[in-house]
Amino acid sequence: SLQNKLGLTSKILIGMATGIIFGLILRNLFPDSIFIKDYITDGFLHVIGTIFISSLKMLVVPLVFISLVCGTCSLSEPSKLGRLGGKTLAFYLFTTVLALVLAVFAAVIVHPGDATLANEKLNYVAKEAPSFAQVIIDMMPTNPVQAMSEGNMLQIIIFAVIFGFAIAHLGERGNRIAQLFDDLNNVIMRVVTLVMQLAPYGVFALMAKLALTLGLETFGSVVKYFFLVLTLLLIHNFVTYSILLKAFSGLNPLIFIRKMRDVQLFAFSTASSNATLPITIEASEHRLGVDNKIASFTLPLGATINMDGTAIMQGVATVFIAQVFGIELSLTDYAAVIVTATLASIGTAGVPGVGLIMLAMVLNQVGLPVEGIALIIGVDRLLDMVRTAVNVTGDCVATVIIAKSEGEFNETVFNNTQAGKIAP
Ligand code: ASP
Repeated sequence: SLQNKLGLTSKILIGMATGIIFGLILRNLFPDSIFIKDYITDGFLHVIGTIFISSLKMLVVPLVFISLVCGTCSLSEPSKLGRLGGKTLAFYLFTTVLALVLAVFAAVIVHPGDATLANEKLNYVAKEAPSFAQVIIDMMPTNPVQAMSEGNMLQIIIFAVIFGFAIAHLGERGNRIAQLFDDLNNVIMRVVTLVMQLAPYGVFALMAKLALTLGLETFGSVVKYFFLVLTLLLIHNFVTYSILLKAFSGLNPLIFIRKMRDVQLFAFSTASSNATLPITIEASEHRLGVDNKIASFTLPLGATINMDGTAIMQGVATVFIAQVFGIELSLTDYAAVIVTATLASIGTAGVPGVGLIMLAMVLNQVGLPVEGIALIIGVDRLLDMVRTAVNVTGDCVATVIIAKSEGEFNETVFNNTQAGKIAP
């Protein structure tokens, strides 16, 4: 039957398209209908969409913990962990700075900010950003159970690495528990593939809700900003990453792009790197050929600190707001934008919309009016979806490159187009 012939990707795409069409039709047939709003938008669609996202989030904490314990306790030499950590951080930092240089450079040349916008009524109250020292202190868990219940990714990563390391350190006596974690890992990965089957329906609901609620009228004044960010996100995603992949690992970027489709669709529709994490891990291990040792460490870390797409938005937005308010930025200011936006994107949590909140920190640092955020908030929802897809793609590019360089990469799996395909 047709049902069985279609792969998951096609089903998700169909869910997406029908969702948008369904939403647009309802919106045009019954504008301002209270019934639609209460029972469809905030009722049925909201319930289905939220349950879908919850089902993904439900897996994140157990998956990260179990998979990372498996990964660290199978690392043969402990020194490898330090090298892996160093490489990963360096590569994540490198791609983020690359993204920011691209963004700031393009924003200066294209000049999306129109000074007439400064006359609009602007209301935006910024949240206070935590101090750098506090960020470092907060990485160490005081209570691992609390870290898990709050989904504090960095703390979970640290606890899991220590725990896994201890298992490896036990030698023979650690074998039984290592085996247990390995079994648990198989179970949780199976749950991931089961939950993925819900995606077409979840995506339908999320897209229909978006089409019903998105205010297109807000695009008018910031249309140049919107398209500039969008273009840069696409360039980074398809050009920069392809070049990096080819240059550092010699792999075929076209295969990579193809295999990233599902992950990107999940990221796009959930607008959350964290919620997408189960899919990112699944795809990296079973479709791209990355060993669990590498993926279980680099991907949760990436979903938390590596946000190239967010950095692009923050870079363009900062220059845009300076232009709108007629504030000249010097070369040192641009350098400050790149440094603070790098930190801001690291500090951005992998959940919807946080990139915009962290933008306030960048604006504060370089002395630009934070109210400027009010201008771009209307178009941020769509950009959030696209930049999240870029964020997770950046994590996967780094993961593949690092795995290859560590000899923990299965090229046969990478080149096999059928590998890891989720059967319908
Ligand atoms: N939604 C983004 C993510 O989860 C973060 C952001 O830029 O708001 O990756």
